[in-house]
Amino acid sequence: MCGIVGVYKRKENNHSILEITKKAILSLQHRGQESAGICILLNNNDLFVHKAIGLTNQVFSNINNLDGKIAIAHTRYSTSGSKASIRNTQPITFYYKNKWLAIAHNGNIPNFEKLRKELEEEGAIFSTNSDTEVFLHFYVKYKGDMAKVLEKIPYAYSMIILEGDKIIAFRDRFGYRPLFLGISDEFFIFSSEDSALTQFEFIKEIVEIKPSEVYTIWNNEIKREEFSKAEKYRFCIFELIYFSRPDSKIFNYQVYRFRKECGKKLALLEDREVDIVVPVPDSGLASAIGYSQTLNKPLELGLIRNHYSGRSFIQPDNISRRETVRNKLFPIKEIIENKKIALIDDSIVRGNTSKEIIKLLRENGALEIHLRIASPPIVSPCLYGIDMPTKEELIANRMNLEELRNFLNVDSIRYLPIEYLKEVVSKDKENFCYECFLKH
Ligand code: SF4
Repeated sequence: MCGIVGVYKRKENNHSILEITKKAILSLQHRGQESAGICILLNNNDLFVHKAIGLTNQVFSNINNLDGKIAIAHTRYSTSGSKASIRNTQPITFYYKNKWLAIAHNGNIPNFEKLRKELEEEGAIFSTNSDTEVFLHFYVKYKGDMAKVLEKIPYAYSMIILEGDKIIAFRDRFGYRPLFLGISDEFFIFSSEDSALTQFEFIKEIVEIKPSEVYTIWNNEIKREEFSKAEKYRFCIFELIYFSRPDSKIFNYQVYRFRKECGKKLALLEDREVDIVVPVPDSGLASAIGYSQTLNKPLELGLIRNHYSGRSFIQPDNISRRETVRNKLFPIKEIIENKKIALIDDSIVRGNTSKEIIKLLRENGALEIHLRIASPPIVSPCLYGIDMPTKEELIANRMNLEELRNFLNVDSIRYLPIEYLKEVVSKDKENFCYECFLKH
C-alpha cells in the first residue's frame, strides 16, 4: 500500500507547492512508512527530486524554500520489488525526449514480471525491480495512449504521472485503489484519500475519480476521459476495513461509519457476557464503538496507543511488528484487571500482533478475553497491492478457529461473517473485492 499526491499550481499565490505537497503526503503517512519521495518541476523546468527511507516528515525535514509548477509525492509500503530499498523509492523519474517523466503508484501489477520480460526482449532496460517502472515503459511505448495502456495493464493501481508540464492521474478499470481530485482557484491536487485534501481551506470541490477515468491537467485546464469501464468494479474492501483514515470517504463510504456498522453487526452475534469492550487502537476503535453501543456495554480504553510509533501492520518484518506492539500499546491495569473483556480489532493477518496484545491484557489481570474481529478471516494473499504475500503467513489459513483460539490464548474468538460484511456495503456489494477472504 502506498499514498500518492499530485499538485498542479494554477497561478501565483501565497502557498509554495512544496509546502502543500508536504502537508498532503504527511496526511497519507498511514498508507506507508518505509520510504517517501517528492519531485517538483521547478519554474526553470528542471526537476527537483528527493527520496529516502523513513517517514515523510523525516525525509522532507531539510527541504524548504522551493516552489515550482507541478509536484508529485509518494509514501511507500512495498508490495513488489525490494523492501525498504532506496532504488525502488518513488516517484520514479526519467528524462525522455527533452522532458521529465515521473510516476507515483499505489497498488500492484500482478503480472509485471511477464510484462517486464516482454519489454526487455524488445531492448528496454530498467533502473528498479518494481512493477511501477513497467507501467511507465508501456506509457512511453504507446505514446501516452491511455486506452491502450489501461487495456495492456488492467489492474491494480491508482497512479499519478508527471510528463513535462502536464500531470495525469487515473484509476484502473476495476477501481481497486482510491484516488481523489481537489479543485481550487490556486491548485489542482490529487490524493489517495480525500482526508488529505479537506485540510486545505482553499479547496472548493473534491471529486472521487472513477475507475477507468483519466484526468489530464495541462495549460491550467482539466481534461477528463473514460476508457472501457469494467462491468463490475473490484473496490478493495480492506481500504475500508483497515487502510484508510476514518475521516476519509472512500468508494462513497464514510470509513468511520463503515467500521462502526461492522461492529454493530458483530454485536448482533454475541452470546457471551462481558463487562467491558476494549478496542485495539486505533483501527479497532470505530467497530468497538458500534459493538458497545449495540450491546449497551461500556467502551473502555484499556490499551493506550503511543501515536509516535508506527502502525504494526505496515512494518516490513515480523520482528519489528512485535517490537512495535510493545512500544506502541500501553495497558491500563485498573481498567483491565478482573474484567471479562470483549477485545475488538479490525482484522487478523499474521496473528503476531494479536498474540502480543492478548499477552499484555493477560499480564494485566484480564479475567476473560473474547476476541471479536470486525472482518472475515483472511485466508488468501492479496495480489492487488496489500502485502500479505504467502498463505503460510496468514494465520487463518493455517489454523481453524479452535487452533487459533488456543494459539492466541483467548476464551473465545469470532470473526464477522462475509455475508454480514456484504450487508454493510449492500448497495455495492457486487462491486467490491473479497478475494483475500476466499480460499483459492
Ligand atoms: S484481495 Fe483483499 S486486500 Fe487485496 S484487493 Fe481484494 S479485498 Fe483488497
